[in-house]
Amino acid sequence: MNKQIPYKIYLQESELPKQWLNLRAFMKNKPAPLLNPQTLQPMTQAELSQVFCEELVKQELDDTTPYIDIPEEIIDFYKMYRPAPLIRAYCLEKKLGTPAHIYYKFEGNNTSGSHKLNSAIAQAYYAKKQGLTGVTTETGAGQWGTALSMACSYFGLDCKVFMVKCSYEQKPFRREVMRTYGANVTPSPSTTTAVGRKILEEFPNTSGSLGCAISEAVEAATEKEGYRYVLGSVLNQVLLHQSVIGLETKTALDKYGITPDIIIGCAGGGSNLGGLIAPFMAEKLQGKADYRFIAVEPASCPTLTRGKYAYDYCDTGKVCPLSKMYTLGSSFIPSASHAGGLRYHGMTSTLSELYDKGLMEARAVEQTSVFEAAEYFARIEGILPAPESSHAIRVAMDEAIKCKETGEKKTIVFGLTGTGYFDMMSYEKFHDGKMTDYIPTDDDLSKGFAGIPKI
Ligand SMILES: *Cc1c(COP(=O)(O)O)cnc(C)c1O
Repeated sequence: MNKQIPYKIYLQESELPKQWLNLRAFMKNKPAPLLNPQTLQPMTQAELSQVFCEELVKQELDDTTPYIDIPEEIIDFYKMYRPAPLIRAYCLEKKLGTPAHIYYKFEGNNTSGSHKLNSAIAQAYYAKKQGLTGVTTETGAGQWGTALSMACSYFGLDCKVFMVKCSYEQKPFRREVMRTYGANVTPSPSTTTAVGRKILEEFPNTSGSLGCAISEAVEAATEKEGYRYVLGSVLNQVLLHQSVIGLETKTALDKYGITPDIIIGCAGGGSNLGGLIAPFMAEKLQGKADYRFIAVEPASCPTLTRGKYAYDYCDTGKVCPLSKMYTLGSSFIPSASHAGGLRYHGMTSTLSELYDKGLMEARAVEQTSVFEAAEYFARIEGILPAPESSHAIRVAMDEAIKCKETGEKKTIVFGLTGTGYFDMMSYEKFHDGKMTDYIPTDDDLSKGFAGIPKI
């Protein structure tokens, strides 16, 4: 096909996916099941339903249904900010002088500023349908909490957010956006939960971590009638909802007969990347096509590149089920890096399994080089990227520069997961030359590994 490719490939509303793609259904080697930390047996529907919404538990445990219908109410909400554009980075290509073709899927076009709304609205919908009063959750950088607040206010649900303390202090505006949408926001660790009090006793000066905020949110949900806990990443259900990113991307590329060579995404818990690659990985698993996939993580929290593949706790307080995943250990608290959304110690079991089987690559990058890429991108493509998203930009640019050296005309697609307006303190540090790169030593990591249970 030789159609001129526009700067932005927009889809029609009618081209919105009507079903999510369940990547696990295409995997011969399924991700390992969640285990009950007491009995070490796979978690049952009944056990999980004490913490999570019923329909979401069904989705969590379903590794055989390839496509799952998106309820009409959720599609209606998606229509407010989707389909998201797939953008041809013509300006970036020109500036880099690369023969590569670069595309990015932009998920920052909604008030929450990231892809997280795709799953937040689904989770709020199922909670409402179950007749619950509200949901609890944790938030790191604040994007998930914001997305969930929006989704909860849309369906009239109460929303309690435990926000990692350093973000709570660094990002007062995020907090206020959440409160604008009616959420109740508590800095974590807090004295409002038993697990929070225990963590504070042990580490009084901690700046908090996602793993710790998760423990608090789970406790708050299970203590209160009519509440369930919801999670913005890591779980299979979240990857399922995020498959809208990949499905739209595939539809847009197919319209112009474009086949990507490399697909790149940043990886915190793995949900945006899992969603972006879903239809492409499904093809690869079926032997229909081949693609390279690259997960990009911060060198300060190198889960895939330096972690262990083992059953581990999902949270610091060890209240959640055990998940088999790449992990740095649930007690690992990364340095206060500026990509809050990528500071999780583990990785979704689906991507962990695919990575372990060599179906996906991973790369760790340092934050000053990430911010260099972020600024370069902002000046050329106009969008001010989130620090998390900029990890993908860094590697997409690196790959495009390689193409310049080799003369290869590869097609690179990356996920631009969100905007960085609430991250200007980080940009300020970068501009003032005060940003540092902290890479944990093997010794630092071995402390985290020591806490991984022997199963
Ligand atoms: C949360 C977040 C991420 C990382 O989360 P994943 O579950 O790995 O996708 C990446 N980018 C942005 C903008 C985020 O808010």
